[in-house]
Amino acid sequence: MSTIEEIKARINIVDLISESVKLRRTGKNYIGFCPFHANTRTPAFVVFPDSGTWRCFGECNEGGDIFRFLMKKEGWDFSEALRYLANKAGVTLEPFTPKKKEENAYAERLSSILEEALIFYRHHLTQTEKGKEALAYLIEKRKLSPKAIETFELGYAPESWEDCLTFFRKKGYNEKELIDCGLITQRSEQDGYYDRFRKRIIFPIRNANQRLCGFGARAISNEDIPKYLNSPQTLIFDKGALLYGLDKARKAIRAADQAIIVEGYFDVIGLYQAGFQNAVSPMGTALTPVQMRLLKRYTRRIILALDADSAGEKATLKGLQVARDTMNHAEDFIFDPRGLIHSEARLDADMRVCTLPSG
Ligand code: ZN
Repeated sequence: MSTIEEIKARINIVDLISESVKLRRTGKNYIGFCPFHANTRTPAFVVFPDSGTWRCFGECNEGGDIFRFLMKKEGWDFSEALRYLANKAGVTLEPFTPKKKEENAYAERLSSILEEALIFYRHHLTQTEKGKEALAYLIEKRKLSPKAIETFELGYAPESWEDCLTFFRKKGYNEKELIDCGLITQRSEQDGYYDRFRKRIIFPIRNANQRLCGFGARAISNEDIPKYLNSPQTLIFDKGALLYGLDKARKAIRAADQAIIVEGYFDVIGLYQAGFQNAVSPMGTALTPVQMRLLKRYTRRIILALDADSAGEKATLKGLQVARDTMNHAEDFIFDPRGLIHSEARLDADMRVCTLPSG
């Protein structure tokens, strides 16, 4: 993610503009009186949370993103707005050096290699003899519809040490690139390389902007351990900064003004199939503050629906704590019974726990 994308992901445009403009919700968007032209009787200023933009449909007919809003309102230039918003979002600004530029280009390349790998895995699930067992597992055992398999772009990594490696070598990629995007592993200096994912269902993991960052992979035989294996930490894959399903759920989260947090890949897909398209998963680990900030951009109403076992309960408590630390607090002034005023911090979020029956 670029610094600008990162800032936009962390700052909710409605919150930012609400600091100076009174907004009222109308459907998906927010409307208010334009701060840039003398107030008329009609509110002509619209904020579009989905795209992170605003526009005045009145006299000034201006629009833009959060940067443009601050530049216009405060009379700042872009770098001043950038410094202010980076600070507010808790993003460290790095000078845009040639090295950084090179790194961004390399990240793009790694992501495009993953897209090719995804074509390879999807082909193996749907078009090969070996993939039949995996497809049967998804449809019969996991009760996934062919449509859900298609929507979530599920794939299959064949039971082989080097099918994936050979596929990419033929296309002219080198081992370093394949290691850097987490597709292969090096055995040792002498013994060469092997495919990271073997005989596993493949779940592509995309960020909110649809960029492919890595894979989750589930063994289809119970003897194979670990049951779940992810891409390793790479330049583009940071598990704690991604939420599985957010690329597909973000619109539904906004529309429902509510996000459901579930434990794993199958929970997200299962809920999607059942008509709840606003579910995301922190992929089997405890919710991180970065993940919570990602969600905060779309909603403040969160439901934790984690497994009904002791690990799930622990994860729920941890999730509540992270939410408490991450979500904004508002201050209320309260009259106590003696008539004195004191202030009370209130969490600016609606957190609920959905308790599931065990099993
Ligand atoms: Zn205006």
